[in-house]
Amino acid sequence: MALIAAGTAVLDRQICRPGWVQTAGDQIVACGAGAPPGPPDSDFPDGIVVPGFIDMHVHGGGGASYTDADQIAAAAQFHLRHGTTTTLASLVTAAPDTLLAGVRALADATRRGIVAGIHLEGPWLSQSRCGAHDAAQMRDPDPAEVDDVLAAGGGTIRMVTLAPERPGSDDAIRRFRDAGVVVAVGHTDATYEQTTQALALGATVGTHLCNAMPPLDHRAPGPVLALLQDPAVTVELIVDGVHLHPAAAGAVIRAAGPERVAAITDAIAAAGCADGAFQLGTVPVDVSSGVARVRGTSTIAGSTATMDRLFREVAAFGPDPDASLAGAVQMTSATPARALGFEGVGALRPGYAANLVVLDGDLRLTAVMARGDWR
Ligand SMILES: [Zn+2]
Repeated sequence: MALIAAGTAVLDRQICRPGWVQTAGDQIVACGAGAPPGPPDSDFPDGIVVPGFIDMHVHGGGGASYTDADQIAAAAQFHLRHGTTTTLASLVTAAPDTLLAGVRALADATRRGIVAGIHLEGPWLSQSRCGAHDAAQMRDPDPAEVDDVLAAGGGTIRMVTLAPERPGSDDAIRRFRDAGVVVAVGHTDATYEQTTQALALGATVGTHLCNAMPPLDHRAPGPVLALLQDPAVTVELIVDGVHLHPAAAGAVIRAAGPERVAAITDAIAAAGCADGAFQLGTVPVDVSSGVARVRGTSTIAGSTATMDRLFREVAAFGPDPDASLAGAVQMTSATPARALGFEGVGALRPGYAANLVVLDGDLRLTAVMARGDWR
């Protein structure tokens, strides 16, 4: 048993000052507003306790990459130190054999509890919106390959990003939905109509909205408007101040509401490292002033962000500090949990996993608890 008291605790959408959380083993057993029911084991009188972060789109960090079987644990450990207690590990576009090997390694890591599942970002993407992915390996979704990938994942593939204008994507969306996989629209040149068709077939997520898709045009509104206006869709936002102008991010958050916006890092191995040369899959990437770009181009190649930094960024939106704090909690935990169908995580609530982050008054991370253990 551990009793944690804090000057502020964000419990199940409510900001409590003060508040407390009681854990037993790897679970939260009680929590509430006001003084704790006994002498606390940990006391953070100036601290803010929030749910552990859920990153639904991340490729690596701390010099380690989720595409490399030997580096999965190190990447997860790096992001855990920055408050990510639930990770959907992303694989980039790759040749068929490489993709299957990557899926098998991450499926094993999922079964061992190192990550919470797999996000396939490609290979069924648009060459004209390839971003930092290897365009030469992009292909149409072939039913046999989809089945092979699903079999290799053994139920651990939680989300797939695809470009719905690719021939065969309608069938692929149905196949993934039938297998319980969340379908996301991204790295796409789809029209507004093609995107609404994908949503009608069951896609429910927009992958890093605004990035790797046509910009909103008032005569051809494209995927951005189709994704934003559908109340069933969750949109990912890389709120690092690089991928989106803060005013654009703020406008999306106001339009969709924090219940429909998931803050994601889209971090690559370079997160937490000094500037230098890195790889994203097979694509060489240079990081300068913390911004990753495909070598020799201006194309942004993922980020060097961590969830604790993104929490600070989104908590600074909006004029009302309490609403912004509640919104930041929502976008870094409850929204991604709901979008992915993860149960028992994403809030501080009895019966949920004892995953929490302690921030100081400047919203800097001071402690992380994952499954009941301080990390
Ligand atoms: Zn991407």
